[in-house]
This record gives sequence, C-alpha cells and structure tokens, in this order.
Amino acid sequence: MYYPYARPLYVMAKAAGPLCNLRCQYCYYLEKQHLAPSLNPSPEEEGSVTDKSLPPREGMRGAMSDSLLESYVRDYIQLQQTPEVLFTWHGGEPMLRPLSFYKQAVRYQQYYGRGRQISNSIQTNGTLLTPEWCRFLHDEGWLVGLSIDGTKEMHDAYRVDAKGEGTWQRVVDAIHMLQDYGVEWNAMATVNHANVSQPLAFYTFFRDELHCQFLQLSPVVERIRHHSDGRHLAQLFDENCAIAPYSVKPAEWGKFLCDIFDEWVRHDVGEMFVNVFDATLAGWMGVAPGICVYAEECGHAVVMEHNGDVYSCDHFVFPQYRLGNILTNGLPQMVYGEKQTAFSRLKKDSLPRQCRECLWLKACHGECPRLRFLHTADGEPGLNYLCAGYKIFFQHVAPYIDFMRNELLAGRPASGVMTAFV
Ligand code: SF4
Ligand code: SF4
Repeated sequence: MYYPYARPLYVMAKAAGPLCNLRCQYCYYLEKQHLAPSLNPSPEEEGSVTDKSLPPREGMRGAMSDSLLESYVRDYIQLQQTPEVLFTWHGGEPMLRPLSFYKQAVRYQQYYGRGRQISNSIQTNGTLLTPEWCRFLHDEGWLVGLSIDGTKEMHDAYRVDAKGEGTWQRVVDAIHMLQDYGVEWNAMATVNHANVSQPLAFYTFFRDELHCQFLQLSPVVERIRHHSDGRHLAQLFDENCAIAPYSVKPAEWGKFLCDIFDEWVRHDVGEMFVNVFDATLAGWMGVAPGICVYAEECGHAVVMEHNGDVYSCDHFVFPQYRLGNILTNGLPQMVYGEKQTAFSRLKKDSLPRQCRECLWLKACHGECPRLRFLHTADGEPGLNYLCAGYKIFFQHVAPYIDFMRNELLAGRPASGVMTAFV
C-alpha cells in the first residue's frame, strides 16, 4: 500500500552519473563507476553527449540521454502535488554536461510545467563554471550549492583534480563569478581530518571572506573495505573496517560544532544560517528539520542515476537499494512503494535503546543510519559513530537553544539570544 501524493517527492538527478573532473580523496561517489554494469552507458547514452571539450572516453560515460531527460522532467512534474516543483541536479559533477543539456531541461520544464512554478538547484565543485553558465544560472534563477572546505590549506588537503593539484583558487574564483553575476549560492563544506581542528578559522573564512549566508556542514566519515571490482569503501553491514584517515573523529566533530556555535550564537543568528544549528533548533521545537540526517524518518529524497536507475538515497547507491528504473517502473511506485517505505522507517525502527532513551533524541534521531556501525555500552548494534560528538554538542548548546525556542514560542525573534548570555 502506498500513498502517492501524501508528501513532496524529491529526486536528485545525476545528469553526468558518477563522473567528475576532480579526484577529492574522500569522495564516496566516484567509485560508483565500478559498481554495476547498469551504471555504464548504453550506446544510445554514449551518443548523446555533445561536449567535445571533455576527454573522449571520460566525456561519454555516465551521461543522461535526451529521451530519458524528457521522460524524467515530464513524469516528475506530473507527479508533484505541490504548486512548486524543485529539480535538483547532482553528481559526480553535473557541470560535466554541457549547458545545452540544462537549457533543454528548462525547455522541457516549461513545456510540461504549463505555468507551474519550477525551481532548480545544482550542486557543483565550481571548477567548470563560466560567465555563460553564470548568465544562465542568474537568468533562470537557479540556486547553486558550491563545495568548498574552507581556507586554501583546508580545501586543498583533499579536494584535488586529476593531476593531484589543489582546486581552491578555481573554486574561490567561481564564487566571485557567481557573486558578480548575482547568482544565489550556498556553501557545502565537508568537515574532515584536515579542517576539524581549526573551527574558528574555518567559520570566519566563510563569514568574513566569502560573505556566505548559508553554510551546510557535512562530516566526513568513511571506512575502508577493498572490493574485487575496484571499490575501496565499506557499506553499512561491513564489519571490522578501518576508519579512513581523512574522517573526523566523534569528539573532534563535537568540539568543532561547539566552537563555531559559540561564535555564531553571539554574532550571527539571523544573519548566517548553518544547517546543523537550524536543525537542532527545529528538533527542540518539535518540527521537522531541513536535513534528513536529523529527522525522525528519512528516505524522502531518492537518487536517479544517468541511466534512469533509482536508488533509496545518495549514500545507498548499491544494488540492494535499487528501487527500479524510471523508464519501466513509475516514480510513485518506487518512492512510496514497500521497499522505500521500509528504508524510511529503518531510521527510527533500528534505533538502539541507548538512542531511544537519550535526552537528545529529539534533535539527533540517531543521525544517519549509514554511520550506525558501533555497538552501545550494553552490546546492542546500531549506535552512530559520531554519537559521542553529538552528546558534547547538544549538552553545550542546550541552554542557548532552550532560550531561542522560548523566544520563538513567545513570538519574539530567536536573535535575542546574541545578547542574553553576556
Ligand atoms: S540514510 Fe542518511 S543520508 Fe540517506 S536519507 Fe537517511 S539520513 Fe539521509
Ligand atoms: S546523541 Fe547518541 S545516543 Fe543520543 S540519539 Fe544521538 S546517536 Fe543516539
């Protein structure tokens, strides 16, 4: 039994599949190219790529065909029951597809949208941005999520190109170009071994040098497991795997969050938006946070690969989490079907007792299931690797978040917290 129109349906479309022009050392998606023949292109898909500036073979693999693009845009719009339809373009690196691909997507959106409000966001490493792209992004009102990990030293530690060279300067140039053209953007920053020990330098770089208003933090945690097909990262059920060296440690993550929170809560509430802090306040208020990892249930945003295959989540693009293909299975059947419903519920249903009885459950909800590979003190599986860090963070921010919640409930702005604790 599924309820097709009970909630918005989100699909992250991988226009260029797992292909990327960079080789960020902590990337979990690039190695999807090894995963299954289904993620390699058909001859039709190969023929659809028109960007001749890319290396021949590299440019041809993993490209969404024009016929698939049209089917996807049509079906996605028709299935949405909300007035606004949001398209999300992800990678790999989605800008490996030529601008003509996205112009075509917009034409299909206009044709099949028939006057509905259509929004687009694109998550990019920024290195392929050009003035022509910026004009398009501005004129069409697209939101750009740009990946940057902080200062040059922090960013270049892992975000390198195919030659192993740092990409920071190109990304900063891209941000300035977006700003010059008036394109709306936000920053997606991973927190990893190279930047976790410098929280203030990290935060003030985004605030004071990039003038970033929306900062999305994402902790890097991967485990190593070598596979015969060339992949090197572990899945949730793999046991006894070493933590990858670029990962954050739990206590480091907790301290990092505390330190930037202390700066934010005194100076920037209402001016700068940090996803973890917003989600924490939402949890305290009893409303759904904007990020799946802190929600009670998840699985509301599926991934569609370039060949039309749909998976449960960006972090679960593995054969056992394949829901079907957009050309042969309906999107609502996949998104609201039994398999994805079970995936959604697992986040809540698999919580160990330690989480169910935790003081911070309202804001944490056991965080992301992909990181639940620890055992609790009494031996129960399913504890999140970052748990110890979250306990440090929630304990530290509780008085401030209590205050902010009370202000909001009283109809006053939460920004009063900036002067309440001096
Ligand atoms: S598994 Fe993690 S990343 Fe995927 S939808 Fe659930 S919380 Fe989000
Ligand atoms: S802080 Fe730890 S115990 Fe509490 S809900 Fe989060 S992961 Fe579970």
